[in-house]
Amino acid sequence: MKNSSLPQLPKLNHPDEAIERMCGLLARISTELVSQEVAAGRVLAEPIVTDRPSPPMDVSAMDGYALRSEDIRPGKITVIGDSLAGHAPPVLREGNAVRIFTGAAVPQHATLVVKREDTHEESDTIELKEPLEAYRTGQNIRRQGENAATGSQVLSSGQEITAPRRVALATFGADEIRVYRRIRLSIVNTGDELIEPGQPVLPWQIRDSNGPLLASLVKPYAWIELINRARVADQYEVLKNRLNLELQSCDALLLTGGVSMGDTDHVPNVLRDLGASIVFHKLPIRPGKPVLGAIGPTGQAILALPGNPVSVAATALRIALPVLKFLAGLEDLMPKTARVQLVDADQKSIPLHWYRPIQLLDPTPDGVQRVRLTPNLGSGDVVALSSSDGFIEVPADCKTSSGPWNCWMFEP
Ligand code: AMP
Ligand code: MG
Repeated sequence: MKNSSLPQLPKLNHPDEAIERMCGLLARISTELVSQEVAAGRVLAEPIVTDRPSPPMDVSAMDGYALRSEDIRPGKITVIGDSLAGHAPPVLREGNAVRIFTGAAVPQHATLVVKREDTHEESDTIELKEPLEAYRTGQNIRRQGENAATGSQVLSSGQEITAPRRVALATFGADEIRVYRRIRLSIVNTGDELIEPGQPVLPWQIRDSNGPLLASLVKPYAWIELINRARVADQYEVLKNRLNLELQSCDALLLTGGVSMGDTDHVPNVLRDLGASIVFHKLPIRPGKPVLGAIGPTGQAILALPGNPVSVAATALRIALPVLKFLAGLEDLMPKTARVQLVDADQKSIPLHWYRPIQLLDPTPDGVQRVRLTPNLGSGDVVALSSSDGFIEVPADCKTSSGPWNCWMFEP
């Protein structure tokens, strides 16, 4: 049933406006406490502050000998003990040295560490090899707190817990940390033509590739929990029942197909009739023009992507993922990818923001990332999509020159 008296939606000129509008209407997901042991890939919902200085005390940067600057002199110096990593340092007496290893605590009163290589070593004495001026106070000592003092903020809320950030959690003993809850995502692929994997396929049917595409796209993100994936026929009631069910348990819903103006395109009406508010429908982009964004009855992020697989890939990367990132609590919504140079610029332009599939070329010594256009026959060309690494974004009415271009990449 089509609804003819719908409120007018504002005309949006750019995909970023669509993202902004969606994010302006969405609330971030709630938070939970988790052990840092299982926090990799999650999104921090609190800043992380150091509980001790880093390093926690003065430590040696080298294997060598710790001594006082006053005791730098020609002749033999007695080594009176060892300072090992993980052990309290021995007492350093005037006129002596302590053998010390990388990361071990510098004994009290020691003011420098002399590298092993700069000494002649015997079993319990050393002699300094270099001219005495070469030994400077403080050398080879990492000072207590030189990386950060106690109480310094080292990570902020909204950051994804990547491997290097995990180092800060571990170092500063954040046992239980507050993270955003994983967003529960449902993927629903619509179309009478879709068949289950492994089933016989008639010439007028196709195997669903949009479901697998989206599932693979979200797989690397620990902040997404894919709770369900379904294929649904182009029947209003069937679709309505299915989406109603999904909306009971999901925080975000990705749909494909059925979002244009055809008689079998029920997605916009079903969403409206289920109480979702449509935020935008259609954007000046190619491929993917009929894309729709909505907020579900209990605040879910809903993105309905046009069914052609190249459209799904482009709109998922360019629009859906940033919106999911916002919902998941992330501060950075856009990928920090370098701009790329196009080697086979064809100077073509269209009056729409144009996502052109590309293939990455091998690195060259100048460090410039070069790409070439993937020859393709349009938004249904699954073969071209399969050999692409991402899309360049050519703004409306811009010629496809050599760039540099913003590039939207599939994660490895
Ligand atoms: P639609 O947006 O529903 O008009 O779909 C456009 C075209 O995309 C369809 O005619 C199919 O050829 C293709 N298509 C739709 N859904 C899928 C899917 N899940 N997997 C692969 N191709 C699809
Ligand atoms: Mg369809």
